[in-house]
Amino acid sequence: MPELPEVETIARDIRPHLVGAVIRGVRVLKADILRGIGPRAFERSLAGCRIAAVSRRAKHVVIRLDDGRRVVIQPRMTGSLLVSEAPVTADRYVTITVRLSTGRQLTYRDVRRLGAVHLLSAEAWTRYTARLGPEPLEAGFTAARLAAALAGGRLAVKKALMDQRRLAGVGNIYANEALWSAGIDPSRLARTVTTAEARRLHHELVGILRRSIRRRGTTVRDYRTGTGEAGAYQSRLNVYGRAHRPCPRCGRRIVLTHAVDARATYFCPGCQR
Ligand SMILES: [Zn+2]
Repeated sequence: MPELPEVETIARDIRPHLVGAVIRGVRVLKADILRGIGPRAFERSLAGCRIAAVSRRAKHVVIRLDDGRRVVIQPRMTGSLLVSEAPVTADRYVTITVRLSTGRQLTYRDVRRLGAVHLLSAEAWTRYTARLGPEPLEAGFTAARLAAALAGGRLAVKKALMDQRRLAGVGNIYANEALWSAGIDPSRLARTVTTAEARRLHHELVGILRRSIRRRGTTVRDYRTGTGEAGAYQSRLNVYGRAHRPCPRCGRRIVLTHAVDARATYFCPGCQR
């Protein structure tokens, strides 16, 4: 599932082709990925609009139009965005195509159609983004802010890290990796994380997210960059997907459990306390 580094990579890849372009035409081929708007209304209300900016918020690609509205795309499990010179044809997973004034085309494809596409007014976007937690790579995101995000509630630290209202953009892969790097047992209650541990976790989490962006994200299965390639960070994973293999730090076998949050949790019983 695309998390912060993967969605950031997609946004950076498509941004130079989109900003300043005018939308000439939109076709919705599979309407079930649209939220709160029908396919014909979506097509009509985007035609003729100029794209002002492309960014990422949490795990969403955000396309800002020059009238302030936002097209918000959540690729979730199997969605991908691609800019191409020629229309993508003979691909039954294409769900939306956008024809641009530059002659290029933006395609959203989604194999299982678990993703979601919203068209939000400026006001609706403000409300939407206010419900999401802080961005881990923004300058104001300090160890103290991470500690605050983890405080309160009786939930496991891994689950707290992945709660988008507490912290934006972190999902299962990077929560597992950051907790391993910081030496913290993922099943521990978030509120038991000490100040020193929060500082270490902050340092590791930010470092991992930055390094993954440099390697254009992690491809375990479906994720593709905005240029259609696989990412390269999967070769750098220390615990995720490595059940029963030796821990790179202490040599104990990595354990896979679904007992923490029903998701796959990988950890080392030897060096995560
Ligand atoms: Zn270990």
